[in-house]
Amino acid sequence: MSRREDLPTDVRCFLHCRLKELHGKRCFYCRRNFGKTRLRRRTLDHYIPYRIWPAWEIENLVPACEGCNNAKADSLPWPLVWLLLVQVREGTTVREANTAPAAVQAPPAGTSLASLAG
Ligand SMILES: [Zn+2]
Repeated sequence: MSRREDLPTDVRCFLHCRLKELHGKRCFYCRRNFGKTRLRRRTLDHYIPYRIWPAWEIENLVPACEGCNNAKADSLPWPLVWLLLVQVREGTTVREANTAPAAVQAPPAGTSLASLAG
């Protein structure tokens, strides 16, 4: 049974209405208005992926167009990843923070994305 089939229609409608009140008529990710085309259609997205937080709670749902929802899939959103990295870093001692892997440390001032990619 898919996740979509797990949710009764009346509950799904309630969640859509509640999210419309909270977030308006725009996609949470791309901020474009929802439309009638398949990729612009309104969907419910689990901000923290369903495989990690397997519930349909309003606190973890955002309205997303189908294109953004499909693109995000089961990945963690970047803002959440950064918050987790900061928490991990703050949980370490100063000595440990100084030896953290380069991927966790902020790049030096003036570093461009192009130089990081190369
Ligand atoms: Zn979108």
